[in-house]
Amino acid sequence: MHVEVRGLNKHFGDFHAVKDVSFGIEKGHLIGLLGPSGGGKTSILRMLAGLESPDAGEIVFHGRKVNDLPPQERGIGFVFQNYALFKHMTVYENIAFGLRVKKANKHVIRERVMELVELTGLKGFEKRYPHQLSGGQRQRVAFARALAPEPQLLLLDEPFAAIDAKIRQELRSWLRELIERVGITSIFVTHDQDEAIEVADEIMIINQGRLEQKGTPWDIYKEPKTPFVATFIGESTLIEDASELKGFGGTGSGAPAKALIRPEYIEVGEPHEFRVISATERGVVKHLHFRGSEWLLEIEVKGHKLVTYRSLEKETLHPGQEISVLVHRAYMFNDEKSWIQENG
Ligand code: ATP
Repeated sequence: MHVEVRGLNKHFGDFHAVKDVSFGIEKGHLIGLLGPSGGGKTSILRMLAGLESPDAGEIVFHGRKVNDLPPQERGIGFVFQNYALFKHMTVYENIAFGLRVKKANKHVIRERVMELVELTGLKGFEKRYPHQLSGGQRQRVAFARALAPEPQLLLLDEPFAAIDAKIRQELRSWLRELIERVGITSIFVTHDQDEAIEVADEIMIINQGRLEQKGTPWDIYKEPKTPFVATFIGESTLIEDASELKGFGGTGSGAPAKALIRPEYIEVGEPHEFRVISATERGVVKHLHFRGSEWLLEIEVKGHKLVTYRSLEKETLHPGQEISVLVHRAYMFNDEKSWIQENG
């Protein structure tokens, strides 16, 4: 294991910001820390960086405990949203900075900077100053600067947050390729689930200071450990009391329970299209919305609103129409912490 964290805790005064967080990361993996604002993501990153010290817990890089090492001796590179470039230095000087601090030889510096300029697509921009670059280019310089001293671990805190949507999209796939080519273990903080799903090998869901789940985007989407994770990743409809809904509502005991239903678990059609009538509910189409490659359908079943999608050339259903609804799977729970049962 390249990075190991055991029993990490952090208080700010009375506030318990990071609660008993433990995880391991394999070499070369890109990990996304994802969760709502204030959950503790940045605090975890800052403790790994050595910018904040934990109240309890161990941080181990490549078999070596680093708790007592200052940031500059931990072999890490940072790219933070507001970790600005040096304004009075050119692109070349910015990238060379870490190597100059390390007193590397001039030829070594030149070779490394040119290699990074190439790798980050900044060739021809070496003599420019930060104010002569676009936001996306500046952030690429920040990556090159972080990578120049050949860190063992790269820490990224919302690196694309200040960049507009279209460029951010390009930078995500650029980052994915860059990390694969360089083969460096990386951890990045984001509150954007699409970004985490698209870029990360594994995601860690952080909520209220706790690590709720760690796994591949696929695992987390398909097998969310807690209702919180299921609502945070992917789309779903929450039904507050699903006890009287057939097929997916019954808990056996007749006790009320909440249900989470993903759009792809819902099948709708005209009543005669369903052969398994016993498991279907009657519903009505409320809204239809064309989204390019599919139709979004808002339906109502016994007073509950559900959302699903259909990929059809031409949608045959219309608002107000009576339909049959089959739910293939639903997640049942009473509180955010655990499931009661899973249907389907
Ligand atoms: P965001 O996505 O908004 O950046 P986050 O998940 O990164 O949130 P943190 O920045 O780690 O969350 O903050 C976790 C909690 O700890 C927050 O409630 C924050 O107010 C608190 N906190 C963070 N740093 C300090 C500090 N230096 N002093 C006091 N409280 C702090």
